[in-house]
Amino acid sequence: MLPGGRRRPRADSRFEELRLGPLIPGARLIILGRQGAGKGTQCVRLSRHYVVPHISTGDMLRAAAREGTPLGVEAKKIMDAGGLVGDDIMIGLVEERLAKPDADSRGYILDGFPRTVAQAEALDEITAPKPINVVIDLDVPREIVLERISSRRVCRDCGTNYTADGQEPSPWICDVCGGDVQQRADDTPEAVNRRLDLYESQTAPLIEYYSSRGALAVVNGVGHPDNVFQRLTDTVESRR
Ligand code: AMP
Repeated sequence: MLPGGRRRPRADSRFEELRLGPLIPGARLIILGRQGAGKGTQCVRLSRHYVVPHISTGDMLRAAAREGTPLGVEAKKIMDAGGLVGDDIMIGLVEERLAKPDADSRGYILDGFPRTVAQAEALDEITAPKPINVVIDLDVPREIVLERISSRRVCRDCGTNYTADGQEPSPWICDVCGGDVQQRADDTPEAVNRRLDLYESQTAPLIEYYSSRGALAVVNGVGHPDNVFQRLTDTVESRR
C-alpha cells in the first residue's frame, strides 16, 4: 500500500505492456460459415491476434487420415464422399482438445465444430464452466463461395491456403513450410455442392440455435481479408 491507501501498481504487468504493447486478452470463439467463406484464413489471423489455438476439426481429421489411425482411415472415406463424421466421435475429439492447457487457459477459435445441433448441445455442456464469448456466422453468399472453392489450394502439411490463378508452378511448394500445395480431394464440384447442401440442411439450424440464445453475431465475409478481419475483431470486442 502507498500513502493514502493507494495500491502500488504491479510493476511486472507495466513492464510487459512497455515491451509487448497492451496485452490482448484471449477469446473463446466459434466461427460458423459455408465452406469457402474464408473461415480458414480468418481463423489463422484471429488465432495469432488473440494468441489462442485455431482448432479446425477438418484439419484434425485430415491429420489423422495422413497418419493412418483407425479414426483417420474411417474419417477419410466419409470426407471423400462429402459426408459428416458421427457426432459422438467429433464430440470426443473436441472435448479432449479443449481440455489441453493452451485452450483451457487463454481460449480457442473453433472452426468446423459444431456442425450439428447435437454437437452444439454437447459443446454447451463442455464449455459450461468457461462459456464461449460469441458465435460468429461469417456470411458469404453461395455463388461467391463456389467460385472461391474451385480455385482453392491447400498445403498438405501446414494447411496454408492459396488461390490458383491458372499460372501456378507444378509442383507447387508451400512458402511457409515447403510442403506440397494441392487441391483438396473434397474440393471437386460434386463434393462441394453436396457439402453446401449439407450445410444448408444440417448446419443452418445452428444459426437458429445460437441466435435464439442471443449468442450469434453475423459478420459480412465479402471484401478484402483485412476489412473482414477488422469486422471480426470489432465484433469480438463488442461482445466481451
Ligand atoms: P472442413 O475442413 O471443415 O471443411 O471439414 C472437412 C470434412 O471433415 C467435412 O466435410 C466432414 O466430412 C468432416 N468434418 C469436419 N468437422 C466435422 C464435424 N464437426 N462434424 C462432422 N464432420 C466433420
